Amino acid sequence: MDLILILGPMKSGKSFDLISRFASLQYAEIPFKIFQPEKNTRDQSVWSRNGVSLGAEKISDLRAIKKEELKVAGIDEIHMFNDEDAYIIEEMLKRGIKVIASGLDTDYKGEMFPVIKRLLSMGPKHVEFKRAVCEICKNPDAVYTQVYKNNEPILTGIPSIIPEDGSYVYKPVCRNCFLRK
Ligand SMILES: [Zn+2]
Repeated sequence: MDLILILGPMKSGKSFDLISRFASLQYAEIPFKIFQPEKNTRDQSVWSRNGVSLGAEKISDLRAIKKEELKVAGIDEIHMFNDEDAYIIEEMLKRGIKVIASGLDTDYKGEMFPVIKRLLSMGPKHVEFKRAVCEICKNPDAVYTQVYKNNEPILTGIPSIIPEDGSYVYKPVCRNCFLRK
């Protein structure tokens, strides 16, 4: 079955894209579910910045999906899952479940998340690379997500669990504005 990936930096419309691919399934009576990592504490649904949302189930790892009787599975914030979870997605594809996943492709260093690398190696039918507006120069070609603390970009040594108290700020930036170590 098909794997579809929707990738890109912060604020590039990934969640809206994911939701819009599921909106029509609601009327077609096709069994589907959208999943989100438990680490994402933002809220209980996939939420896009233009106010559209769709109910999502929180899971700590993708093994929770394995038993589900679904035709289509959506996974939001896929980059927050473990790279081993990519093999669970492969099992789902073998079982005939279509998987649509969205998330960041690269981390704060501009390096691809291991789970994304594995998914790209599994022959996705379609990969959408989204762009955002660069928050530094305002050009609409941001491909990276720079992480700031106290207005300073963090180039190395980010904590593995980032506090959700707003002390870390994520900004989409273009190739020219992205800073590397
Ligand atoms: Zn820029």
